[in-house]
Amino acid sequence: MKAGAVFPEKRKIEVVTLDEPRISSPTEVKLRMLEVGVCGTDREIASFHHGTAPEGFEFLVLGHEALGEVVETGPAVSRFQPGDLVVPMVRRPCPHSRCLACRAGRQDFCYTDDFRERGIKEQHGFMTGLVVDEERYLNAVPRELRAVGVLVEPLTIAEKALIQIHAIQQRLPWGWATKRDHPAGRRHGAVVLGAGPVGLLGAMALVHAGFETYVYSRERIPNPRADLAAAFGAHYFCSETYNAGQLAAEVGNLDVVYEAAGATQTAFELLQVLGPDAVYCFTGVPRHGEPISIDTPALLYHLVLRNQVILGTVNAGKDAFQAAICDLRVFYQRWPDAVRSLITGRYPLEEFREPVFDRSGIKNIIVLDGRT
Ligand SMILES: [Zn+2]
Ligand SMILES: [Zn+2]
Repeated sequence: MKAGAVFPEKRKIEVVTLDEPRISSPTEVKLRMLEVGVCGTDREIASFHHGTAPEGFEFLVLGHEALGEVVETGPAVSRFQPGDLVVPMVRRPCPHSRCLACRAGRQDFCYTDDFRERGIKEQHGFMTGLVVDEERYLNAVPRELRAVGVLVEPLTIAEKALIQIHAIQQRLPWGWATKRDHPAGRRHGAVVLGAGPVGLLGAMALVHAGFETYVYSRERIPNPRADLAAAFGAHYFCSETYNAGQLAAEVGNLDVVYEAAGATQTAFELLQVLGPDAVYCFTGVPRHGEPISIDTPALLYHLVLRNQVILGTVNAGKDAFQAAICDLRVFYQRWPDAVRSLITGRYPLEEFREPVFDRSGIKNIIVLDGRT
């Protein structure tokens, strides 16, 4: 069967041929891959900045945002049967007994950096016809999400952030009011920096969680991403027209910033206008070679005198996958066209390089449909 692969040492990218995987333990499940989403992480791997091949291989099969269908189950598998749709998790635990996170099944918080990630670090990904994985790493997806289930994994980034933000804000004794549970109270204001798939899915999650949500991005209005944001109830502000201070004045109370643009200069400008008792959540990392200047005394002054929290988050646990599946179902019912329009390009496996390097569109996907 064919697979989209990157050779980190030889610095080449090509379609390779793999043997079909077989179930080798009673708790394994065989999946026919249907769709695989492509993102900036794949671009980084294909540019040889990131990504490690599994032991014994010269190449790494790409693909960590996947939707598959169960075709076969080991005798001890209890939760799945052939025909079920699933989204696999990405990270696998490190081997160390001292890693409390991995031993607790929360490898997304791994202490040692010796975890593996499918399609990213030391384990092949999902951009191929058939895949075998352990039942415990698979999440059931309802059939009605067949067309958009590939968005579950990128949505888990926002879901993990929201779970943590809610946990942190338990520090506020009067509660963390959102529109749904406190109709009379003020609505919390959230700014999403970036209008890529992670940003737009994050904005949907924040709107759904009851935040007055603002998407802040470079592209001027009118543009399709601004229309999309408006369609699901978020406000779009162009960073070329409104600086961070002007945006904060519009928001009123900047309680949450969800950074999804790759930790740019603008991200740090927003940090300076963060409100009292607020949480700033970084999901991106700086791009190579881009200098960023920070007014550190002002940053620390606000951080301390306004009880602020700066949070970094990566990967996702089972709770975030479950929340993403649950929320995507609700988003798809509330805003079917908006959710569908996040997927802007579909490519066959043979052309996988194109969406990896082409940055136009929102979410581009490889359609496998089990073809090997
Ligand atoms: Zn991704
Ligand atoms: Zn670990």
